[in-house]
Amino acid sequence: MTTVITAKVRLYPSQEQAAQFKAVTKEYQRLCNLVSQWYFDNYCRVNRKKFNQEMYHYLRVESKDINSAMVQSTYRTVEAHYKTVRQQLFQHPYHFQDKNTGKWYRFNRDLGWLCKPIKFSRPQADYVRNLNYSFVEQGSKISMNVLGQRIKVAFNGDYLNFFDPHYKLGTAKLVQLKNHWFLHIPVTIETDEWKKEHNQHIVGIDRGLRFLATTYDEQGKTSFFNGKTVMHKRDKYQKLRAELQAKGTKSAKWRLKKLSGRENRWISDVNHCLSKTLVQKFGANTLFVLENLTGVSFERTDLPKTLRNQNRSWAFYQLEQFLTYKAHLNNSEVVEVSAAYTSQRCPKCGTSKKSNRNHKLHEYHCTNCGYRSNDDRIGAINIQLLGTQYISGQEQPKFELTTNA
Ligand SMILES: [Zn+2]
Repeated sequence: MTTVITAKVRLYPSQEQAAQFKAVTKEYQRLCNLVSQWYFDNYCRVNRKKFNQEMYHYLRVESKDINSAMVQSTYRTVEAHYKTVRQQLFQHPYHFQDKNTGKWYRFNRDLGWLCKPIKFSRPQADYVRNLNYSFVEQGSKISMNVLGQRIKVAFNGDYLNFFDPHYKLGTAKLVQLKNHWFLHIPVTIETDEWKKEHNQHIVGIDRGLRFLATTYDEQGKTSFFNGKTVMHKRDKYQKLRAELQAKGTKSAKWRLKKLSGRENRWISDVNHCLSKTLVQKFGANTLFVLENLTGVSFERTDLPKTLRNQNRSWAFYQLEQFLTYKAHLNNSEVVEVSAAYTSQRCPKCGTSKKSNRNHKLHEYHCTNCGYRSNDDRIGAINIQLLGTQYISGQEQPKFELTTNA
């Protein structure tokens, strides 16, 4: 199985390097706009050969300081953009009504409908692996082309081991988002596919606000993960933080503040660590079972004050995304099951009753059979049970309402 992810690598350029990034991305943007004009002037009927004949040398003269491989890349960038626009045009055909007959007409649109060249409005630049960027100094820095030279920049690698022989790194994009620089690297990873018949572990995961995740596995073991315990494993981040602290310069302090101050960033870190922890804890051939949270709301009172006004659903969605790709890298799989009654159903006798759950005390108490447990745990147990049903062949396992009066 092939998994493709985009590693969003945060770069830490010095002031001078940031200015060099700005210059190279602006120049790349300018060249893309020239190529786009040429592309448009040729009625979009061009190819790489024609580009090499008509544009390449012109651009080399026009822009002496930019790396030649990057000049080549402009064609690829422009072509990819036109392809996207062509698809968009095709998906939105032109409709019009004949005023006299009242009849409607529909035309499929192609690039011929464009009345001006596509404009590249953001400064950014493409970097070909090894030619324009490479990892240097034992993988602690990225060497990158800027105008007229190559520089070495510090980075934070999105928790990926770029030196894994199973990883294939593609052409990356240098982008600026607000005041930060990122290198977006597409990573293609070849892994063995998860197979139902080889599955060894079934883990139900209840995503919550008090505990980020409560898991229940096929051995009957429950684990609770809160932000603090998960963050103990953020080794890479701590390293970077320590580095910045040791530096003690004004800019390091500023970066440190940004690093710790960002709530969203923190949640992403937590999700990275949590998903990594889960995948490592249960090992290969594991089926992770999550609830489909579309349309599910949470008890807001459970939230810490700082998060109360935020919509946290993106955080749960992100956890699922991270867990999915990390699971795929480890012969494992993630499946979504219906959330219906998972927090109301008694795992002992199967009775579903909303009032059995006491949100304040975080307790579940079955009025039918007397079973008592932590309410997050109940969710994980029920989700795990649905996972077992999935493994035994039910495509969309879910609980129906059963009430013993
Ligand atoms: Zn019961």
